[in-house]
Amino acid sequence: MKLLVTGGAGFIGSAVVRQAIAAGHEVVNLDALTYAACLDNVASVADAPGYAFEQADIRDRAALEAVFAKHQPDAVMHLAAESHVDRSIDGPGDFIETNITGTFNMLEAARKYWIEAGKPEAFRFHHISTDEVFGSLGATGQFTETTPYDPRSPYSASKAASDHLVRAWAETYGLPVVLTNCSNNYGPFHFPEKLVPVVILNALAGKPIPIYGDGSNVRDWLYVEDHADALLLVVQKGELGRCYNIGGENERSNLELVQTICAILDEKQPLESGSYADLITFVTDRPGHDARYAIDPTRIREELGWRPSVTVEQGLEKTVQWYLDNRPWWQALQDRAGVGTRLGTGTAA
Ligand code: NAD
Repeated sequence: MKLLVTGGAGFIGSAVVRQAIAAGHEVVNLDALTYAACLDNVASVADAPGYAFEQADIRDRAALEAVFAKHQPDAVMHLAAESHVDRSIDGPGDFIETNITGTFNMLEAARKYWIEAGKPEAFRFHHISTDEVFGSLGATGQFTETTPYDPRSPYSASKAASDHLVRAWAETYGLPVVLTNCSNNYGPFHFPEKLVPVVILNALAGKPIPIYGDGSNVRDWLYVEDHADALLLVVQKGELGRCYNIGGENERSNLELVQTICAILDEKQPLESGSYADLITFVTDRPGHDARYAIDPTRIREELGWRPSVTVEQGLEKTVQWYLDNRPWWQALQDRAGVGTRLGTGTAA
C-alpha cells in the first residue's frame, strides 16, 4: 500500500513509518516539523526507495491537496496533532487549530482526492485518537468503543471533536474511515518532556523525579511498537466505519510505573549508594487530572487477532536501555529552546 502518514516525524507516527517501510509499504510522511518533531526518528528509513517526506502544515488545505494530488495514496493514517496535555492547559489555541481545523482540512482534502480518483473501494482514512475522549474512570470498569464521550482537558476535547468530524464525514459524505482510540504510549523516541523520558532522564541527571499529586492516577501503558503494529493492522483489515480501542493490558499507577523505571535503572546503572527511587518528589497535581483510564481491547483482539506483545515491565526494560544507548538523540532535543522536564501524564504522556 502507499500510505500517507501525517505526523510521521513524531513519536508514534515515526514508529508507524519505520514499521510500514519494513513491511514493504510505500510511505509519504507529511509533517509540519513542530517543536515535537524530530526527523532523526525516521533517519533509518530516509533512504528507503518507498519513502518520501513532505513538510506541510495540516492547517494549510491547499498544501494538503497538493500532497494528495502528487502522491495518490491508497490510505491515510492521520496522526499529526498537538499532543501534550500540559501544553493544552497553558495554551489551548494551537490544539483547536491543529487538532480540529487541521483534521477538517485533512478530511476535505482526502474527500476531494477520493472523489476525483473515482471513489476507490479500498481507500481508507484512518484517524488515530486517544482514550482520553472517554473521560475518567473510577476504581473499576473499562472504556469500550461505545463508552460516551466525556473529554475533560483542552487536548482531549480537541481530539473528541476531531473524532466526531471523522464520523460525520463517513455518515454524511460516505468517506471510508476507520478510527482507533489508544491508551498511553511509551517507548523509544519518546519526546523528552513526556512522563517516561522525564523519569529516566531526571534520574540519570540526579534531579528530582516529579510525580503529580500522590501518584495514584492509573493509566494503561502501551508499548509504541505494539501500537504501530495494531495501527497497520487496522488500516489494512479494520472494518469500514468501525472504531477499535487499542490498549496495552497493563494498568499501572504513575507511582508504580516510576518505581519500575527506577528499579530497572538500579539494575542497569547502579548508584554508588541508594536507589533512583530516592529522587521521587510529589508535586502539585495537574488541574482536572483524570483518575484512571483503562481500555477494554476485546474488539481488536477478537475481530483482528491483535494483542500487545510485551508487558509494561518488558517494554520499560527495552525503553530504558534505548535511552541509555541513544544519549545524543535526547540531548539534542533537550537543548532545544522550550523543552524542559515538565510532566505529561495524560494519554499523550
Ligand atoms: P507527537 O507530539 O510526538 O507528534 C506529533 C507530530 O505531529 C509531530 O511530528 C508534529 O510535528 C506533527 N504536527 C503537529 N502539528 C502539525 C500540523 N499543524 N501540521 C502537520 N504536522 C503537525 O505526538 P504522538 O505522541 O506521536 O501522537 C500521535 C497521535 O496519536 C496524536 O494524534 C495523538 O493525539 C495520538 N495519541 C497519542 C498517545 C500517546 O500516548 N502519545 C495516546 C493516544 C493518542
